[in-house]
Amino acid sequence: MCYARGSEFLPKARICVLVIGCHLSISKGYLAIAQEAVSLGANTFQFFTRNPRGGKAKAIDPADVEAFHGFAAAHGIDRILAHAPYTLNPASATEKTRDFAHLALAEDLARMENTPGQLYNMHPGSHVGQGVDAGIELIADALNEALRPEQTTTLLLETMAGKGSEVGGRFEELAEIIERVELRDKMGVCLDTCHVWDAGYDIAGDLDGVLREFDQIIGLDRLHAIHLNDSLNPRGARKDRHARIGEGLIGFDALSAVTRHPLLRSLPFYLETPQEDPSGYADEIARLREAWEG
Ligand code: FE
Ligand code: FE
Ligand code: ZN
Repeated sequence: MCYARGSEFLPKARICVLVIGCHLSISKGYLAIAQEAVSLGANTFQFFTRNPRGGKAKAIDPADVEAFHGFAAAHGIDRILAHAPYTLNPASATEKTRDFAHLALAEDLARMENTPGQLYNMHPGSHVGQGVDAGIELIADALNEALRPEQTTTLLLETMAGKGSEVGGRFEELAEIIERVELRDKMGVCLDTCHVWDAGYDIAGDLDGVLREFDQIIGLDRLHAIHLNDSLNPRGARKDRHARIGEGLIGFDALSAVTRHPLLRSLPFYLETPQEDPSGYADEIARLREAWEG
């Protein structure tokens, strides 16, 4: 089955193809990261908007963005995903940390408009002892401040492992945040296979059941992206340690089944598996493509 999902500048998918990529460094710019993705057999990619530990974002070079758009159109690059820094925590108990979250969100979303119609993913945050409800309120406040009616970017909340005081380990928590956001047509969810497994959802044994639950609580129309990772830990461990595809406790067959599921197969998939160098992703992408096309 073919699906036509795309965006303003990226062509609508004309051919039936698995949209898959991996996390790469954008330090050399948009064109360079897209070229690297294509060299790995990918037709999308994920990148950090700035240093993952925080700090300032690099200035955008309009010529580079222009060159990227041409290259992306020519190579069928589809739905790129920007990832917020890990230090972004709008649910922090510290005002300074919340202020950085508000500033970084506003800046990142403004920058995203250089590549209209793409995806921006963030970890909802950690409530650091203030309680889940207080965390949910603070996260929703930050989103209500950051989202703009005119923005073309879809902001995704990532499903979390539930490690420490992380908010977003339960589908209910993500639904509650989205419910409190005024511009919720700008909101979606990115499902991380390692995280949901570590949070206790049995995507290996009962994928249909997990998707049914997701649909009832959040709505599958909110699901815009999948982080495809194996997990080093047993289901429910709440650890969040990624493994290469087929080298963890979820396993290759179950993760391939995620990419082939009729409700998921047109979504973009992003690998965040531990690799010594990006060439390791090429092998994972090739094996997953083969199984998807099989
Ligand atoms: Fe993430
Ligand atoms: Fe992830
Ligand atoms: Zn993770």
